[in-house]
Amino acid sequence: MSDGSSFYITTPIFYVNDVPHIGHAYTEVAADVLARWHRQSGEDAWLLTGTDEHGQKILRTATANGVTPKEWADRLVETAWKPLLKTVDIRNDDFIRTTDVRHEVNAQKFLQHLYDSGHIYTGEYEGFYCVGCEEYKQPSDLIDGVGEYAGQQVCAIHSIPCELLHEKNYFFRMSTFADHLLALYEENPNFVQPASARNEVISFVKQGLSDLSISRSSFDWGIKVPWDDSHVVYVWFDALLNYITAAGYGHDDEKFSRLWPATHVVGKDILRFHAVIWPAMLLAAGIEVPRQVFGHGWLLVGGEKMSKSKLTGIAPNQITDTFGSDAFRYYFMRAISFGQDGSFSWEDLSARYQSELANGFGNLASRVIAMVVRYCDGEIPVAGDFSEADELIRGTEKRVTDAATLAIGHLAIHDAIAAMWELVDELNGYITAQEPWSLAKDPADRDRLEAVLVTAVRGLGTLAVLLSPVVPQATAKLWTALGGIGLVTDQRIDRAWEWTGGPRVSPLEALFPRIEATVG
Ligand SMILES: [Zn+2]
Repeated sequence: MSDGSSFYITTPIFYVNDVPHIGHAYTEVAADVLARWHRQSGEDAWLLTGTDEHGQKILRTATANGVTPKEWADRLVETAWKPLLKTVDIRNDDFIRTTDVRHEVNAQKFLQHLYDSGHIYTGEYEGFYCVGCEEYKQPSDLIDGVGEYAGQQVCAIHSIPCELLHEKNYFFRMSTFADHLLALYEENPNFVQPASARNEVISFVKQGLSDLSISRSSFDWGIKVPWDDSHVVYVWFDALLNYITAAGYGHDDEKFSRLWPATHVVGKDILRFHAVIWPAMLLAAGIEVPRQVFGHGWLLVGGEKMSKSKLTGIAPNQITDTFGSDAFRYYFMRAISFGQDGSFSWEDLSARYQSELANGFGNLASRVIAMVVRYCDGEIPVAGDFSEADELIRGTEKRVTDAATLAIGHLAIHDAIAAMWELVDELNGYITAQEPWSLAKDPADRDRLEAVLVTAVRGLGTLAVLLSPVVPQATAKLWTALGGIGLVTDQRIDRAWEWTGGPRVSPLEALFPRIEATVG
């Protein structure tokens, strides 16, 4: 049982079948912003990400490329998935691969435990299997094919025909957990969020649950079923266990009790696996269910869901090469209400970069620091008498700190950033209204000039601390330029407004330089 001060958050582990697109980067950034925020709140925050490497689809892709599945996975992890984390500046605490020994051995322990306690039985299964989804499909999940698949039933997600498979399987008695799950959703409304996702999950479980086929014998790229090595574990059952094997399940009890339960951030297309199958598995094993499963929306490009199979994939570095990782992070967290679908467009990205990051925040920082250099030789003035306007800024700093903290508690990252931007806008208005360049002309206004500059510097310090989880590179530069002591990432975010200034400013390069090139 967690003592309440740990914050363990996970991304889905990504399938190494192909290379990352911006949808994957979006999930990573959201989880990273939340982890950084909680870390800066003094909590024991721990961000897990990783890769899902077993299953028939990987085996087929590897074979088609003339390598073993492990060689294929190694190549994709090193050339695509780990580099993605650098591209969008993810500060993860661990990276698990389902081919790690720590995962395979402890996933087998979990399975054996379920088998020994009667939650698994032997059966026969026949059904339509989608190799894209790595799952059997219900007839209601299939749609009429078009084009080359006209006249056939195809997977609604992958638009490819399913295969009719027939095999001896081990089954997990998931059906026995339907009432228990419904009670869980009822007693803990936050368990599945947002509300639209929760409602979908509840109505799905209310229809009744089938038992789950959890093994495959038609191929061998997977974790061996511990009591029958002619079977490998169903890839989803294997993959879900990463969240506990990485956290110490089966091999590090102290770590596991410190970290677990986790908050899972997932795309809404894999919500059922996380909000139905996964808690049922944990209930069967007598392990606490996750703290929360949060299903975010889809990224739409030209009105279509972002995915490689729809050929609309955009590589994250297509954006970061031009705009930088901070802008990527800011844009997707700000422009899309977390939990809802959102549209990406190059025009919107460019417009927000220019108006919000470059002109709104970056220019504010440059102007204030330049004025402290010009009018005070770089020395940050000591506070004098503050006017009502100065106090209003202080009040806003406290108010937006509290509002952002509250929003993050609900995983409403977009609301948190919107709150911080009230401070950006107020500070810009304040500088315009106070006209420090006019005050600098008359020595009689010296005290007033200093009060205005120190107020602005403090406001920037608050912004540096609050925005650090979202735009870590810009805020690190700003913090240094403001003469902040230590690292900005070590400043308590829930008390961001308490910072009262450093001794001196130092020159600051443009935080968000003008972008000349045409993009898109
Ligand atoms: Zn499919």
